[in-house]
Amino acid sequence: MTKPEHKRPDSRPLIGLTCQSRPGPDWASFTPGQPLDAVFRSYSRGVEAAGGLPVLLPLASDARTAEATISRLDGLLLTGGEDVAPRCYGEEPRAGLEEVDYQRDLMEIVMVRTASRLGLPMLGICRGIQLLNAALGGALYQDLSRQVPGCLEHRQSAPKGVATHLVKIREDTRLASIIGSETIWVNSRHHQAVRDPAPGFIPAAVASDGVIEALERLGPPFVLAVQWHPEGLWSHDQAALKLFSALVEAARPC
Ligand code: MN
Repeated sequence: MTKPEHKRPDSRPLIGLTCQSRPGPDWASFTPGQPLDAVFRSYSRGVEAAGGLPVLLPLASDARTAEATISRLDGLLLTGGEDVAPRCYGEEPRAGLEEVDYQRDLMEIVMVRTASRLGLPMLGICRGIQLLNAALGGALYQDLSRQVPGCLEHRQSAPKGVATHLVKIREDTRLASIIGSETIWVNSRHHQAVRDPAPGFIPAAVASDGVIEALERLGPPFVLAVQWHPEGLWSHDQAALKLFSALVEAARPC
């Protein structure tokens, strides 16, 4: 007997995308003050373009819900957004720290630790590299311009689809085998960055000022994070699409 259309299996890996909380816009006047769980569509379309099935993950109300959600997924994409609250890596706020969402941090830390325990593939983007690093025991620069004098302009004014600075990819890394070249131009819209990589992680790419632009965990499962924004590039840049594809392929059930 043929299964009904909605019961037919779809073999695409299910990739969860974290969201940020935004205040409701004007059209939500019926529910003033109610937050939205939001993420740019370029992330979910990137997952689709790479052959994955994207699903948005709202801010969970408790750790149990966050854990249960992760256990249903094949892969996790940690998206961009606010600064990570410094107390997540044992520091107090310094001058230059910007907007944080501590509730989001706490739930995403639970998600990362759960995914790590379950061996789920993960890709971190921008805030995602920072959150991943903090969740697994690393530390961040709270503000690059104050803590790394003379650093490049990492907060480009050019549109997201434009690559403005170079990164050098370390040989013999997973990132090098994915991208297939020693250097690439990337877009850049961050003022925080990884300072101390979490245990078990290595810098897989650095900018010319020494700022860490990618981290990866040694050995399986696939855990890779980049400081740039491939979701803003994949539609016209193969190297960016390859990052989405690497996550989706790693998430494909064997
Ligand atoms: Mn950068």
